[in-house]
Amino acid sequence: MAEKNGDPESHRSALGQALALLGDMWTLRIVMWVFIGKRRFQDVRKTLSISDPVLSRRLNALVDAEILQTHRYQTNPPRYDYLLTDRGLELWQVLVAMWAWDRRWAGRHHRDARTQLRHLPCDNVVRPVFGCGCCGAIGVTARDVRGKVDDQLLADFSYRRGRRSPSLTADIDATGVLGDRWSTFLLSDAFTGTHRFNDFQANLGISPVTLAQRLNLFVEAGLMTRDEPASARRPEYRLTPKALDFFDVTTTINGWAQRWLSEDGHSGLSLTHVPCGQELVPQHTCNACNQPLRRTEIRFEGKIGSL
Ligand SMILES: [Zn+2]
Ligand SMILES: [Zn+2]
Repeated sequence: MAEKNGDPESHRSALGQALALLGDMWTLRIVMWVFIGKRRFQDVRKTLSISDPVLSRRLNALVDAEILQTHRYQTNPPRYDYLLTDRGLELWQVLVAMWAWDRRWAGRHHRDARTQLRHLPCDNVVRPVFGCGCCGAIGVTARDVRGKVDDQLLADFSYRRGRRSPSLTADIDATGVLGDRWSTFLLSDAFTGTHRFNDFQANLGISPVTLAQRLNLFVEAGLMTRDEPASARRPEYRLTPKALDFFDVTTTINGWAQRWLSEDGHSGLSLTHVPCGQELVPQHTCNACNQPLRRTEIRFEGKIGSL
């Protein structure tokens, strides 16, 4: 995507661009719908209960970003199907990671609670297991990875003004986490090992008051715990299993940004899989047959996205 001159909202790191584009509560839900075969404006609108202007803006942004392309199926009046481009199709891993996180953490009332993921080669309803496609390790977590955030990504984060953030609640889902401006900001820093208040503040350059408020919300949403060791002047914040699991979502978005939004393969966030020493290549494996999942060999089943 072209950088807009003089626009403080422009995102120059690939991950900054990806989060600006995908980090709201609608965009990836729209991509999911197109992925499972809903191609027309009215179909998506009806299912998501989204207003026409909001849906139009999101669809146009996705076309501008070359994630969707239009295909005219009627000339008078002109009407279009929305199709995923190659770049858009490759978001499938992000969709799998988000779906898996929601199944585990968003609660039984979540709109996708009754959906399933089928692995077609083995014909099982499966649970994806996250791993490193470079060395084939499965069950990889944030603790197996060394992260490094570069200055450009931090600059992008600090420029990023909030779209209206959904409130962080205990049953927040993956689009809600992505839609909260501070979530990816704080989680990315925490994934790289930060857990002290002063270090977050120094790394991220945000005010102590704002930081304290956000950390409190993270604790309430079950994404962090707060420990108060006697020796420390400020409490320490640790990611919960729920937040650590979100690493899969962050990592798949990062992998997509490296591949599709960057010319040199750098996104602003480098994740080294420590056991193999290589940049982590996000991969999901089938828990039934142990084969890596491929886009054309999976199917989401059941009622997706209903409210
Ligand atoms: Zn590896
Ligand atoms: Zn399988």
